[in-house]
Amino acid sequence: MPRSRISIDFPLDQNGKHAGHARLPHSVHRSAYGWLPIPLVSIRNGDGPRVLLMSGTHGDEYEGQVTLTRLAQSLTPDAVRGQILILPMANYPAAKAGLRTSSLDGENLNRIFPGDASGTPSQMIAHFIETELFSRVDVVLDLHSGGSSLNYLPSTVSLAADNPELLAQSKALMAVFGAPYGVLFEGRGGMGTSYDAALRNKIIRIGTELGGRGWVDPAYRALCEQGVMRVLAHFGAIAPDGIAPPGAVQFVSVPPEAFVYASANGIFEAAVALGDRVRAGDLAGRVYFPETPLRPPAEAYFATDGIVICERAMAACEVGDCLFHLGKPV
Ligand SMILES: [Zn+2]
Repeated sequence: MPRSRISIDFPLDQNGKHAGHARLPHSVHRSAYGWLPIPLVSIRNGDGPRVLLMSGTHGDEYEGQVTLTRLAQSLTPDAVRGQILILPMANYPAAKAGLRTSSLDGENLNRIFPGDASGTPSQMIAHFIETELFSRVDVVLDLHSGGSSLNYLPSTVSLAADNPELLAQSKALMAVFGAPYGVLFEGRGGMGTSYDAALRNKIIRIGTELGGRGWVDPAYRALCEQGVMRVLAHFGAIAPDGIAPPGAVQFVSVPPEAFVYASANGIFEAAVALGDRVRAGDLAGRVYFPETPLRPPAEAYFATDGIVICERAMAACEVGDCLFHLGKPV
């Protein structure tokens, strides 16, 4: 692997709490030799577990960004064993713009791992995260939510891996985090996500989908914070004192047929709500056409049974937009 062109402007191997930047080279009209400041915090106290907490992979997902900003302030080196790295705005250009994808190159950071040391800004960031950060840690928490276009029940997320040992390891950590739902996506390996990057680096990684709609729900943020603390305590990176035990987790699988997509461009109205249990053939919602008022709405139906885990958070929709996905209890 070529070396990253992104440099960190403080030493990661020193004890104490240090905050600085991963400097993304960015040569533009107003700044010929400039760089973009990707915020990074290291809290280290000797040897021990090494954990990377990241959010802002998608810049319009705010619950994780607020959670990690709070933890960067509240965690102190004397309370930590080993090292906690905090990367709150992983795709900094996207996060600064409040967009899912990069404002510079339009790319989705969670589809381009392992990235490219000499590629676009997003590819350089993916390459940096995998080669410079994943290589240093034992565990990664990648905090996501529904962003602008979706809204999720509070969930941890992993892949329904074929490898039973890997699946058991992911589920055990999801149970420690303790979000009410543990979502296992089917058929999503090899998509260039941080999950694939973690597999290559032989480290443990789980994600979250906590809320969304371009908003920070205080209850979900609190749940996220507690979940992160439980994971840190589980690995011995912090003491477990005063951390509430996790609640029960309902594990659900998400096969491809659990998704419902818009079949027309128009205005979407949902027929069900998050948390509803639905059956195959149930009405999911209708797409209306105010521009042609006499045209009947296009109805969308569920193709399988399950719990409504994720809903569209924007009324305007186009063909192919995700309206819902279900989780099937396992
Ligand atoms: Zn995301």
